[in-house]
Amino acid sequence: MNPLYTAMPTTIFETMSARARATGAINLGQGFPDSGWPQDVLDAAASEILTGHNQYPPMPGIPALRQAVATHYQSHQNIDLDWEREITITSGATEALAAAIFALVSPGDEVVLFQPLYDAYLPLVGRAGGVPRLVTLRPPHWQFNAEDLAAAFSEKTRLVIVNNPLNPSASTFGRAALDLLAGFATRSGAVILSDEVWEHVHFDGAEHVSVLSVPALRNRAVKIGSGGKIFALTGWKVGWMCAAPALTAVLAKSHQFLTFTTPPALQLGIAHGLGKPQEWFEAMRAGFQRSRDRLVAGLAAAGYAMLPSAGTYFVSIDLAASGISLGDAQAAERLLAAGVATIPVSAFYAEQPVTTTLRLCFAKRDAVLDEAIARLSGARDSLR
Ligand code: PMP
Repeated sequence: MNPLYTAMPTTIFETMSARARATGAINLGQGFPDSGWPQDVLDAAASEILTGHNQYPPMPGIPALRQAVATHYQSHQNIDLDWEREITITSGATEALAAAIFALVSPGDEVVLFQPLYDAYLPLVGRAGGVPRLVTLRPPHWQFNAEDLAAAFSEKTRLVIVNNPLNPSASTFGRAALDLLAGFATRSGAVILSDEVWEHVHFDGAEHVSVLSVPALRNRAVKIGSGGKIFALTGWKVGWMCAAPALTAVLAKSHQFLTFTTPPALQLGIAHGLGKPQEWFEAMRAGFQRSRDRLVAGLAAAGYAMLPSAGTYFVSIDLAASGISLGDAQAAERLLAAGVATIPVSAFYAEQPVTTTLRLCFAKRDAVLDEAIARLSGARDSLR
């Protein structure tokens, strides 16, 4: 047996969700919405199951979906993609991450990552034999500077993994940060793997800046997206990798022996969804922003200091600024006992964790948020 797996703990999301189910707690831990998905996307996929071709689709993805991804990014992010040579459909962003990391990392290669880290990155880098070089981001801004990058990059750097918008901190990297990263990546000949699954969930009128829209990175970056995230259908696991043709050729080979392909009806459902009008995406964002504001207002009124949330389904309680000296894991235990599951952000660090923030998912119906606010308000005095 591979010791990487025998020693590996179960992911914090699974652990917290299982405990929420067992105790009847409201689950603001795992990031799944409980409403807000588009009925026409469900109908499109359902009709494909009943009347479509339910056999193996082409390995790089059904042409209609690859074309829809290209058209979508052209109109939403002004990126030109050749659907035949630059897009590979995968079974969710998770498979895209695995395929890209296995394709781009050889044993001994250094990989620059930013913590807090989405939980899949480090195990996948480890399995590829990569050597992680971590840059630590801290609240409240969660940004890096040239000094941080200089300490992490070397002539052995082959890959940089960036998540934008960043889960769990709900922060974003703008043009200046990506330009800075581009300079370092170019000098060491590294590729940037940009996990952009949250690209549509950004707030307060801000624009998403994709790695592929930075000219210096157009041929040196892989952009990962997820249809499940865009349409609040997280169980669907339809994702993709977009990259220049030379990179895509290698990524597709890695994908072919991971899952080979992805259910055709779900691919066609997502293809339908990507063509929805601009207003649908704006309304979707506005809906999540309203939920964010509801949870933040309720918790602020109860005496919790909240960190900013520029995107994703998440917002964090700043324990330190709330005058709470408990560590995040201990605070999460107390809140679970009070009936609300949250995620301690320290779980997203591999070393020297920030232990002063707790992540909450606000992508829930108003009644669920209101009950969570009531329970968290009641528990406020137990957190000292
Ligand atoms: N990357 C990040 C940053 C995520 O938050 C998630 C989902 N929580 C994923 C990847 C996985 O996406 P998918 O469900 O499409 O595999």
